[in-house]
Order: sequence, then C-alpha cells, then structure tokens
Amino acid sequence: MSGPVLASLVGGHRLEGHEMVLDINPSAPDEHVAIVALAGPEIAAEAAEAAANAFARWRDTPPPARGDVLRRAADLVDERAEPIGRDLAREEGKTLVEAVGETRRAAAILRYYAGQTLEPDGETYPSHSALTFLYARREPLGVVTAITPWNFPIAIPAWKIAPAVAFGNTLVWKPAEIVPLTSTHFATALRDAGLPDGVLNLVLGRGSVVGDTLVTHDRVEAVTFTGSNTVGRAIELKATEAGKKVQLELGGKNPAVVLADADLELAVEQVARGAFLSAGQKCTATSRVIVEQQVLEEFGDRLAAVARSWPVGNPLDEETKVGPLASKSQLDTVFGYLDIAESEAARVLVGGGCPDHGGGYFVEPTVLADLPATSRVVREEIFGPVAALLPAGSYEDAIALANDTPFGLTAALFTRDLGKALRFSRDIRAGVVKVNQESAGLEFQAPFGGMRQSSSGSREQGKVARDFFTQWKTVYLDAPPTE
Ligand code: NAP
Ligand code: MG
Repeated sequence: MSGPVLASLVGGHRLEGHEMVLDINPSAPDEHVAIVALAGPEIAAEAAEAAANAFARWRDTPPPARGDVLRRAADLVDERAEPIGRDLAREEGKTLVEAVGETRRAAAILRYYAGQTLEPDGETYPSHSALTFLYARREPLGVVTAITPWNFPIAIPAWKIAPAVAFGNTLVWKPAEIVPLTSTHFATALRDAGLPDGVLNLVLGRGSVVGDTLVTHDRVEAVTFTGSNTVGRAIELKATEAGKKVQLELGGKNPAVVLADADLELAVEQVARGAFLSAGQKCTATSRVIVEQQVLEEFGDRLAAVARSWPVGNPLDEETKVGPLASKSQLDTVFGYLDIAESEAARVLVGGGCPDHGGGYFVEPTVLADLPATSRVVREEIFGPVAALLPAGSYEDAIALANDTPFGLTAALFTRDLGKALRFSRDIRAGVVKVNQESAGLEFQAPFGGMRQSSSGSREQGKVARDFFTQWKTVYLDAPPTE
C-alpha cells in the first residue's frame, strides 16, 4: 500500500475507523492515490455531537467574522488549486484543466458566500401597535448534514458548506467514498483558514454504513443531499420521518434541442461539450439530442466527427479531452446501457468502445441513433459520455420529446429564432434553461436546481441558498411604557 492514510476529521481530531480501503486512480486502477481508514456509525455520531457542541459559539460569531474565515479559505484553495486539482484528477478522473477549474470555482464560491455575510438578514414590519418594534430575522438551523457525490468533489461541497457556514450553521459532511483526498484537501483549507474545531466535521465512511446515523441523529436539524434519485429519495423518507428539513439535488436526463435554423457549428460544439466533457458524468450533462429532421443527418455527422477528434486518455496529459469514468461500477453501468442499445439495434454513429490505456475505466465519446423513444437508454440517466440522437418533425414535436421524462434539471436549445427561444424557456420543464449554450455549466450566483424528479426542497447556490440554511424568527418587541 502507498499514499497518505486519510481519516475522518471530527472536532479538530483525526479519527481512524477500522476498515481500511484503497483510494484508486480510475486511469490506472493499480495506482493507489491514498488509503482510507473508513468511519463506522460511532464516528458518525461523534461528528454530529461535535457539530452540536460547536454550534452556539459559531452562531454567536458575528457574520462578517464568519465571512473573514471563508475569504481566507478561498485564498488558500486558490493558492493550492494546482496540487488539489491534480489530486482531484488522479482520484476522480476528470481532466486536469477541468479539475483545476473546479477547484478555482470552489474558491470563488467561498468568496461569494463571504460577501453574503454582509447582506441584510431580516426585515422590519409596521405594527398595529405604536409600542411595538416588529421584525423578522433569519437564523441558522443548527447542525446540518451534507452528503455529496463524487462527480464534482470540491464544487458541490463548496456550494453546500460555504452558505451553511456563512449563515451560522455547523456541519457534518460525508463526501462520496471514492473522493476522500479531494475532500480532505477542502476540509483542511477551511481549518487552516481558522474555521473553529467542530464547525465542519468530515466523515469518511460508506454511505450504507454511516448514512442512517448522519440522517437521523438527534442533534442533526437538516440534511442537504446531492446524488442519485434512489439514495436521495430513501434519505428523504428517513430524514422527514425523523423531523429534519431536507434538500435534494438528484439526477437528470437533460435534452439539447437543435432546431433547423440553428447555427450548426455552435450547436455541435456545445452539444459535444455538454455530452462528453467530464466523460458525461455531470448531473447537467446532455444525454438526449433532439434534432429537427431537416438538419438531423448533417448534425449527426458533424457531432460524430467532433467526438472522434477528442482524445480519450490520462486526465493529466494536456491533450486529453475525455478522461476515464470515475469507478469500475460506473464503467459497468455505462456498458450495460451500451448493451441495451445494441440489443435494440441502435445505430452507433461514433464510439461505443473502450480504449485500452493500462486498464483504466475509459469509454469513447459515443453517439447513438435510431433508438425507440421507450428505450431505457433514452429514458434513464446513464452518467457516461453517451448521447442519443432523436428526430423531431417540428418545434412542437421537439418540446414534447424534451419534456417526456420524469426529470427536469437542465435543458438547452439551439436556434436563431428569438420567439422560439422565449417559447421554449416557458414550455420546458427544467430548472435551468440554456439558449445557444451547452446544458452543463452553471454560474454560482444564480439559483440552481431542477423540476420534477430532479430536486426537492429549495434551490441551491446564489442568494437563495439562504432559504435552506436559515429559518425565520419573528420578534414583537414592545418598549416598556415611559414614566
Ligand atoms: P449516490 O450513489 O447517490 O451517492 C451520493 C452520496 O450519497 C455519496 O456520498 C454516497 O456515499 C451517499 N450514500 C449512499 N448511500 C447512502 C445511504 N444509505 N445513506 C446516506 N448516504 C448515502 O450518487 P453518486 O453515484 O455519488 O453521484 C452520481 C449521482 O449524483 C447522479 O445521479 C447525478 O445525477 C447526481 N448528481 C446530481 C447533481 C444535482 O445537483 N442535481 C449534481 C451532481 C450529481 P458512498 O459514496 O459512500 O456510497
Ligand atoms: Mg455511489
């Protein structure tokens, strides 16, 4: 075994659990990035207690002072962006450019929420009584459990942890099991910035082992989760039964609609980015491409040509555009969908193969056509570099297809017609709409979340993050009568 031994960070202490596992590099599974001493339920419970014990002091820390800590953490994450990004790329598999970019985004998110600590935190109301000063103020919730996925292992934690901390909460954070090193870097930067012990407690453990404790523990007030629908809905049930506030960000099956009048060069490039960057492992990735019949063939040929030209390989190599999938189980899932496509006689315009680079979990960017609309490939989230082309006879046809899914996270439209763009932005059931832009790629100052099965609870990011991480307190304050 090689690499650092990682452990949970609870109340300022390093706590090693008993189960040792290897943190694997998905580009070369024989290479171990780190070793992890996984926590069990006892450490999870200790983390909830530590967060509860740290709460009163953190709540009473003036918000601008909380902001100062976040700003220092932002500077540290920026300073360390290259080495953190490198470890992120080795551990998760996205390209170095994407990994360093994501790390810098996490820094920007910390800085943004540092600024939010100076924003107004309440409202005053006119009272029917002349004596009464009536006001309502946003207060923190207490201990929040944050459960995060592996696909954005530093940006998603940042957009949960930064607002939680800015608004005075303390946290227990359980990152996905396969990204312990990136998570440790992030928690360490916050500690080095002066975040008091116990405000952020990192639990490195399996969801199936520590999840129940973190979601139902008596000292936990709220749970914010990003991940798959299956796990998210199960958590929602348990957490609401235990009386917790819950926020879920789940999967997507995001469409890109290409109308006949679109700038095809732009559409091809943006669809390729949406479908294949990060090897398609984004909740906002494009996985259905709905194209008006008149341009279907040309669009398909051009998308296939771009896909063919994108080098697949080691994410640390500068020319690589598509790295490996993050894990063996992710690889098996994607190949499962490619098998379904084959059994349904789909036409493979490009890709479908598994390039052999030292046993890594690679899949070529893949474009499929001629799938039945009922195919699981067209209806379920794949989470790989796979796009299904679907023909549409008209705008009406296209929007009906685009909305024909239980998800509603993001959607893209390519057109030069402003009227159709406005109509689409009204008609589409998605939490984020992109016109002449890829379906992925978010700005952190605007609300983010999905409709239908893609989300539950209030939105993340931007100012609206406050809705989840705070609660109102209304105060009726009567001055005593004057003599
Ligand atoms: P996942 O399997 O649902 O895991 C997400 C997190 O939940 C991980 O930390 C996981 O821990 C934990 N977990 C698993 N079982 C648990 C349990 N019983 N109790 C408590 N926690 C548990 O999802 P993933 O494979 O990491 O991520 C991919 C999914 O996330 C995709 O569906 C994607 O669309 C979605 N996603 C959504 C958004 C969004 O904002 N809407 C953003 C990114 C990703 P372990 O790793 O230890 O299992
Ligand atoms: Mg998982």
